[in-house]
Amino acid sequence: MSDQHLVIVGAGHAAGQLIASLAQDKYSGTVTAVGDEPYLPYQRPPLSKKFLAGELALDRLYLKPAAFYEKFGTRLLLGRRVERIDRPAHRVVLDDGSSLDYSTLVLATGSRARTLSLPGAELPGIASLRSIADVEAIRARFSAGKSLVVVGGGYIGLELAAVAVKLGLAVTVLEAAPRLMMRGVGPVVSTFYERLHREEGVAVHTGVAVKGFEGEGRVERVVCEGLLAAADLVVVGVGALPNIELARTAGLATTNGIDVDARCRTEDPAIYAIGDCTNQHHPMLDRRLRLESVHNALEQGRMAAAAICGLPAPPDQVPWFWSDQYDVKLQTAGLSDRHDQAIIRGRPDEGRSFAVFYLSDGVLVACDAMNRAAEFMMSKVLVGARARVDAAKLADERVAVKDCRL
Ligand SMILES: Cc1cc2nc3c(=O)[nH]c(=O)nc-3n(C[C@H](O)[C@H](O)[C@H](O)COP(=O)(O)OP(=O)(O)OC[C@H]3O[C@@H](n4cnc5c(N)ncnc54)[C@H](O)[C@@H]3O)c2cc1C
Repeated sequence: MSDQHLVIVGAGHAAGQLIASLAQDKYSGTVTAVGDEPYLPYQRPPLSKKFLAGELALDRLYLKPAAFYEKFGTRLLLGRRVERIDRPAHRVVLDDGSSLDYSTLVLATGSRARTLSLPGAELPGIASLRSIADVEAIRARFSAGKSLVVVGGGYIGLELAAVAVKLGLAVTVLEAAPRLMMRGVGPVVSTFYERLHREEGVAVHTGVAVKGFEGEGRVERVVCEGLLAAADLVVVGVGALPNIELARTAGLATTNGIDVDARCRTEDPAIYAIGDCTNQHHPMLDRRLRLESVHNALEQGRMAAAAICGLPAPPDQVPWFWSDQYDVKLQTAGLSDRHDQAIIRGRPDEGRSFAVFYLSDGVLVACDAMNRAAEFMMSKVLVGARARVDAAKLADERVAVKDCRL
């Protein structure tokens, strides 16, 4: 074993993958991960899905069992926070005043739920959904007959709404934008999800700005223009902010995320950053961006491990996402925000299975697939190949997506 000491700040999804990849890539130094949550590195997607529904046990959230970290010799300092990076000394200072010297430092600090600065926002009964602790707080009021108001109609808020209404809560979703999941999917998909949630019994209101919260001792009402929604519980799901303060205070460049290069290195050769907290140039999309997804956390974990171990970079990948709501699995390949043409396959206005393909200058750039795994898989390949496609064929159910290439 060498005298190299790698310190990871944060013990979430990206950190968990980094440790697994370092083990695979035969990293010869010692590894310490400091995480401020008291849990082994865990996956967050089930927090708004099966774990919230009570269908998945806590230990199923863990990426690896404790024995894995012991075997690889990784020291996990859990329930502890890194407060400061001393770059000249190659040292991090923890919340209990102790410090760790590093030869390589990896920032895997993730993101945190954005909160609202509105009157009454501090009332008990108003929660976010980011961590196991948040789910435990929500569960205290998460039972049949209670009324839940979800502020924000993004993926997490809508997944939560789906679980809640199935458990018998009266659910209202309030979204300020004109349509649901506006940041992630095209308009046709938003309209479909509005229908889906209404069919399942959720009261969905779009274009509604929340003005504040009221209640005696705890939240009882959400106040909007022209609307007052009764609430035993409010969950605010209005996006996430990257945890970049540690990096910024240490003088590292940040622009909506910690700036990293193609191998996840910051401008300091001894410091890397991975996961939700980073901003990186994506070679396939040809722009810098910050992605909040499991796929990105996994890829950047692998990328950083390879760079640290002096191995070639893993191949570029098409970003992809998913969301589970009721019996509908949404899978998205690529990013649709810059498309100039949308092609629909199937019927978005009836049933629960269709796909939308997004083109830019005739090239397939993204696909939203609802219960259409084959369309998703084939689109991912074509997006990665920057393939020009035949729009008429894409709309035709009888033609396989791979045969739509020009
Ligand atoms: C409810 C929910 C559902 C989701 N569903 C999906 C989904 O269906 N599909 C998908 O692709 N993505 C989903 N995501 C997003 C996905 O979970 C994230 O992109 C992923 O967790 C990012 O991994 P990360 O390691 O960058 O951050 P995290 O997993 O958030 O880990 C970062 C960790 O670092 C800790 N930390 C921060 N600062 C410090 C410090 N100074 N000292 C010590 N520790 C620190 C944080 O507390 C946290 O534990 C979901 C997220 C949530 C919250």
